[in-house]
Amino acid sequence: MNANEILETDRNLLWHPYTSMLNPLEVYPVVGASGVRIELADGTRLIDGMSSWWAAIHGYNHPVLNEAAHGQIDAFSHVMFGGFTHKPAAELGQLLVEITPKGLEQVFLADSGSVSVEVAVKMAIQYWYALGRPEKNRLLTIRKGYHGDTAGAMSVCDPVNGMHEMFTGILPKQLFADAPAIPFEETFREEDIQSMKTLLENRHQEIAAVILEPIVQGAGGMRFYSAGYLKRVRELCDQYDVLLICDEIATGFGRTGELFASNHAGISPDIICLGKGITGGYMTLAASITTRRISHAISKNGNSVFMHGPTFMGNPLACAVACASIGLLLDSPWKKTIAGIETQLKKELAPCRDLPQVQEVRVLGAIGVVEMKNPVNMGEIQKRFVKKGVWVRPFGKLVYIMPPYVISPEDLSILTRALFEVVREEG
Ligand code: PMP
Repeated sequence: MNANEILETDRNLLWHPYTSMLNPLEVYPVVGASGVRIELADGTRLIDGMSSWWAAIHGYNHPVLNEAAHGQIDAFSHVMFGGFTHKPAAELGQLLVEITPKGLEQVFLADSGSVSVEVAVKMAIQYWYALGRPEKNRLLTIRKGYHGDTAGAMSVCDPVNGMHEMFTGILPKQLFADAPAIPFEETFREEDIQSMKTLLENRHQEIAAVILEPIVQGAGGMRFYSAGYLKRVRELCDQYDVLLICDEIATGFGRTGELFASNHAGISPDIICLGKGITGGYMTLAASITTRRISHAISKNGNSVFMHGPTFMGNPLACAVACASIGLLLDSPWKKTIAGIETQLKKELAPCRDLPQVQEVRVLGAIGVVEMKNPVNMGEIQKRFVKKGVWVRPFGKLVYIMPPYVISPEDLSILTRALFEVVREEG
């Protein structure tokens, strides 16, 4: 197929994320990707500002990840995890337990972020069921959150801007506390957590777990909240005998400047969900990791089992690439690199603050956000970014970048310059 045939077939047959089949947004055929550059069929090379939605942390076509993938393909790409195990899964399990917050030691390897959220939710509910408290089966979360597109995950997305409003009637009814309002760089004040506290106080008997994105609320608004809030949530969960699930699918593997966003608050959740960057963006893999207390309770006396087991659980190819990706990250000066990106983003996005159409500019780790006063026209603004040789995909009022960590200061400057210019033209 040539580029035109691809585009025609695509338009005719393929759904894209959150897209109409009758009036789809423009798509660009990709023929290659290397480092931080994505090459289009017409020869255009775009500097990637999105890391393919938080995932491609080492950029594209990385020799170390390629080698890991090739090596595993030549051995075996997949075998079922029911009744078999293998080195890539064992090594990944060990690595994940070593690097995630203390106490998280029991690893469930799922096949996508949303599924790992389902798994975490089921773990929490099954834990209380096993302890003879089946009435503790609801979830408490914060508004403006996003946890994925499957039913359980949708039920804890923001009920209004969580992209799933039309399904509200058929989803389990969960409890929603106000979103934290105190930003990351400000000191936490107790008033910020009042609504969460009241719900826990009044409803803890029926709550299995609090689920939230630690520090960064991503697709629900790209908001960064104070570490003090997260710390208090941990304390309140302990006080009211409620589990804490941290969805680090977007924030994991260094993106916020700490290896995991939970580390900003020095807390350990009872269950952590990881995904996206776990394979450096090579393929889909996720993990839900919990404590022995929870896994042992669920497995009561060795007679009870955890009720989940996807076909591609522990996929060896994905696990092998994940081990290589985590190795690459840990062997690199990642903290310094991400702090460097943060400093540069803060400096180079600051001029956007002076534009009247801009509401706010926020930066944390390798995430830079320009929030507009009004929603942007995604199709139009995307075209202007492509013309400037960069790949940025805004949504709603949010124009944001989260580049691969391997981006050079020069390429990052091209990205931030393009962002400033495009936002200025929005005027
Ligand atoms: N949780 C968070 C915080 C996410 O950002 C996402 C994906 N945007 C998900 C869950 C769902 O992950 P996936 O798309 O891999 O199912």
